[in-house]
Amino acid sequence: MKDMKEIQLRAYAKINLSLDVKGVREDGMHIVEMVMQQILLCDDVSLKWEPSEEAEGLEISLKTNRRYLPTDERNLAYKAALMMNERYGPKKGRLNIYIRKRIPVAAGLAGGSSNGAAVLHGLNLLWGAGLDVAGLCRIGGEMGSDVPFCIMGQAAENSSLKEAFATDPLAAHCALATGTGTELKPLKGLCSHLVLSKPAVSVSTAKVYRGIDGVDIPERPDNRAMLAALNTNDLTQIEKNMVNVLENYTLKEYSNIVYTKNKMRELCAPRAVLMSGSGPTIFGLVGSIGESKRICEIMKKYNRESFWTRTTC
Ligand code: ATP
Repeated sequence: MKDMKEIQLRAYAKINLSLDVKGVREDGMHIVEMVMQQILLCDDVSLKWEPSEEAEGLEISLKTNRRYLPTDERNLAYKAALMMNERYGPKKGRLNIYIRKRIPVAAGLAGGSSNGAAVLHGLNLLWGAGLDVAGLCRIGGEMGSDVPFCIMGQAAENSSLKEAFATDPLAAHCALATGTGTELKPLKGLCSHLVLSKPAVSVSTAKVYRGIDGVDIPERPDNRAMLAALNTNDLTQIEKNMVNVLENYTLKEYSNIVYTKNKMRELCAPRAVLMSGSGPTIFGLVGSIGESKRICEIMKKYNRESFWTRTTC
C-alpha cells in the first residue's frame, strides 16, 4: 500500500449566462455562442491510485452515491481514466474512483462533464503527465463539449489545482464558448448569489438541439454586449442579455419547466431568471445569501432538487 497516491477534487457545475445557436454543421453538430459560468455547487471526486506490477493493466473501480448512474465506460469519469491511460499509459495498477454527487443529473449543469474533467485533472497530477489547461482541454474536447470549460474552471477554483495553474492563461471561472462549445475565451465572470431549481423532468440534450432547428427564435442574446457588460460589471446589461435560445424549444415541450420559470421569476424579481443549457434547471440571480436561502426553501416545495449557491469568481 505504500505506493498508493490519492487526491480529492471538487467537480463544479456550470450555468449558461447566455446561449445562442448560430447554425448546424454537416455532421449535425450545432454551432453555438454562449457564456459559461462556473458555480460553487459541486460533486466530490476522489481518486486512489495503487500501482502494481502484478496487475494485468489498468483496473478501474467506480462508485457513486447515485445507484442509477453507469459505473463503466458510459460514465464520463471512467471514460476520462481510459483516455488518460491511452495517452499516458499503459498503467498497471488499480484506480478507485468515488463520486459523491450533489449536482442533479441530466439537468443542463454539466455534472457528468465536470466529473470527467476532475478525473483528467487528478490523473494529470497522480501520473505526472504535466499537462497544462490547453493540453487537458484537448483530451476533454474528445469526451464532450462541456468538458473543456469544466477543466478551465476547476483549474481556477480547486484548492489542489489553483497553485499549479496560477499562471495558466486558460484557468478561468467564466468563458465565451464558440464552435461546438469547445473553443473557449476566458472572461471576467459574474459574482452573484444564485438559486437553482430543477423540475422533475429529464431533458435529452440531443433532443433539444434536434428540436431547436424547427422553432421560431424571437430573441437572441447580444453576446458582444454581454462580454462588455461582464468586463465592467454592468449588471443591468448582463441581465438584459441573459437569453437562452433553447428555451424556445424546451419551454414549449415541458409545461412544468414553464411553471418553475414563472415561480422563480416571481420570487427573484426584479433580478433575471434563465434556463441553464438545454434545461430543465432554472436559475435566478439574487442579491444576498439570505435571499437565496429564503427563495430556495420556497422552491423546494415545488422541486425537491432546488439549491442556493453562488458563482465562483
Ligand atoms: P450538460 O449540461 O453537459 O449537457 P447535463 O447536466 O445535462 O450535462 P449530466 O448530468 O452530465 O447532464 O448527465 C447526462 C447523462 O450523462 C446522464 O444520462 C448520465 O447517465 C450520463 N453520465 C455519464 N457520466 C455521468 C456522471 N459522472 N454524472 C452524471 N451523469 C453521467
